[in-house]
Amino acid sequence: MENILSKEIQYIKGVGPNRAKLLNKLGIFNLEDLITYYPRTYEDRNKPTKIAEVQDNKEVLIEAIATSRLEEIRTRNKKIKIYKLIVKDETGTATITWFNQSYLKNIFKIGQTYKFFGKAKRIGSKIEINSPVYDIKEKTKNTGRIIPIYPLTYNLSQNTIRQIIENGLEMVSNKLEETLPQYLINEYNLYDINNAINLIHFPRNFEDFINARKRLVFEELLSMQLALLSLKSKYQKQEKGVTFNKQIHMSDVINKLPFKLTKAQLKVLEEIDNDMESNKSMNRLLQGDVGSGKTVVSIIASYKAVKSGYQVAIMAPTAILASQHLESFKQILEQFGIRCELLISSITKKKKQEILERLENGDIDILIGTHAILEENVVFKNLGLVVTDEQHRFGVKQRTTIVQKGQNPDVLVMTATPIPRTLALILYGDLDISIIDELPPNRKKIDTFAVRKSLTERINNFIKKQIEEGRQAYIVCPLVEENEELNLKSVETLFETYKNETFKEYNVEILHGKMKSKEKDQIMENFKNGKIDILISTTVIEVGVNVPNASIMVVENAERFGLAQLHQLRGRVGRGEYQSYCILKYEGNSKVINERMKVMQNTNDGFIISEKDLELRGSGEFFGTKQHGLPEFKIANLFEDIDILKKVQNVANTIIKEDSNLEKKENEKLKIIVKKKFNNRIEI
Ligand code: ADP
Ligand code: MG
Repeated sequence: MENILSKEIQYIKGVGPNRAKLLNKLGIFNLEDLITYYPRTYEDRNKPTKIAEVQDNKEVLIEAIATSRLEEIRTRNKKIKIYKLIVKDETGTATITWFNQSYLKNIFKIGQTYKFFGKAKRIGSKIEINSPVYDIKEKTKNTGRIIPIYPLTYNLSQNTIRQIIENGLEMVSNKLEETLPQYLINEYNLYDINNAINLIHFPRNFEDFINARKRLVFEELLSMQLALLSLKSKYQKQEKGVTFNKQIHMSDVINKLPFKLTKAQLKVLEEIDNDMESNKSMNRLLQGDVGSGKTVVSIIASYKAVKSGYQVAIMAPTAILASQHLESFKQILEQFGIRCELLISSITKKKKQEILERLENGDIDILIGTHAILEENVVFKNLGLVVTDEQHRFGVKQRTTIVQKGQNPDVLVMTATPIPRTLALILYGDLDISIIDELPPNRKKIDTFAVRKSLTERINNFIKKQIEEGRQAYIVCPLVEENEELNLKSVETLFETYKNETFKEYNVEILHGKMKSKEKDQIMENFKNGKIDILISTTVIEVGVNVPNASIMVVENAERFGLAQLHQLRGRVGRGEYQSYCILKYEGNSKVINERMKVMQNTNDGFIISEKDLELRGSGEFFGTKQHGLPEFKIANLFEDIDILKKVQNVANTIIKEDSNLEKKENEKLKIIVKKKFNNRIEI
């Protein structure tokens, strides 16, 4: 059976070399790909509607007798031929028309009953259906059953791709080898693989569809979850992780802080402390909303590492953020004689050389930087702790690269993307999770207003008023991903207008991704020092920038941003003592846009926002970007399938606890599907 599944698509009945090319574009290369190309939706062409009850502009199935022959209607344009057929049932008459389909000529016979499926138009008491699919009464090729509709088909018609898939299914009919262990199938009442694959394409009823889908989603999520968990158990088994000194107390630093840590911060520090003192490697995700105080947590952990005799690497996604971290680290740790350095690509060769030498000698305790830290010539003397601060995630691969610069160092991954816990387990299933679910006290709520573009003048006056009071403003423009040039242009045009007209009496500057790091840092520095009143930028400022005097964030074309991203942007203000504002300028009128803007106005809670984001966009888009390093799902939808996901997470945990390498006989099938996942998808 293995063999048959890898049969090249070209050789499957109804395909051939030309169609094979089109199918390749859909990611279908062999029989297995074909039969796992799942329908996007279905059309129920099961139940006929009486002609008298057909509604205007709805798709219907009618069952009716031909009362005329197919008649060709002449039109002025000789190229267009219209064919017309009159049919009736006991409630009324319908006109069926086709264009240019001369092969239909001798098919229909007066007095014979046919089924037609298509979109109906109602004109008074009559109805008309254009270009329907049809069957002779008893047949169920195009009608009379639930018909699958496939997502993308390029130049293949739905009928063609459906036929090809049907041919493919015939080749494997009831011969697919079961991919799940029998005990799971029994316990969770799952369809066997043959039933599931057949019925997902051609369900006889809704129940078939639900059950077939449940089985396939279950398997897809289970293999994913098992893959991540086995990765995690592999880390944990690694012998001889770093054991940090129990005599070094985090409280040394905590007592010197200018503020009191929140309960949540203390709790996660305790979890981290336990990990650090144990001889297993820490692999922990620290999740917390913007401003929840993750940085200080990493500073305290770094203190423990350094005072235990190890070096620390801190990786940030941007140079701006890395520089800012350097400042925060120095501010707290210099008093303990801890030496911090910055490594970003824009520093001079000489400086870099010097840093690399001192790092290798052990004269630098904490190295903070961007991807530059990953380079091969960056060698630590004794790396014991790695912290990655990331917007999404650097990917397992990059994490591994940095980890290999030490001897199983502890790893702390920080993220400000608040995602529901169940989903975090999918995204970061290979890590233990700590959550800071509380903001430091006395934070002022940021007032958020979603406004139409037409109110621009009032908004501008509001910005001026804030600046007159001594505050500063961010104005962010969206990225139109496909076209960098165009992006830049739109920001630059806006910048010119604002600088030379709208806000000409103020200091306006621009910041975007195409600028040199040095330039960017300079501008950020000037903004921090208050030399710039208004900073116009693309989303480069999204991550973690801290300017307490900035009190207003304006987002242009807010409808183009994801909610999670808007929430991140909003987190740039409200970092000081001043009442802060977030103004979302938006266009468009769709229900989803309005809904999204409303969510932003009504809540400041990152977790609620991310749940809504997921709901309003669907997990497809939420997880669509490859940034997450997540395999794409063929059938599962993390939002809709949350119940199955929870079940699967329990199952996977139990299995891995008892059989971490999937070596038991009863799990041998699982080993195969997990291996497949690793080979195809997860990059390690
Ligand atoms: P995050 O990285 O989670 O977005 P930061 O670590 O940058 O947040 O913290 C935001 C600000 O809050 C910083 O200025 C930090 O010094 C401050 N801060 C952190 N923890 C506390 C606390 N417990 N009480 C008061 N201020 C805090
Ligand atoms: Mg941060």
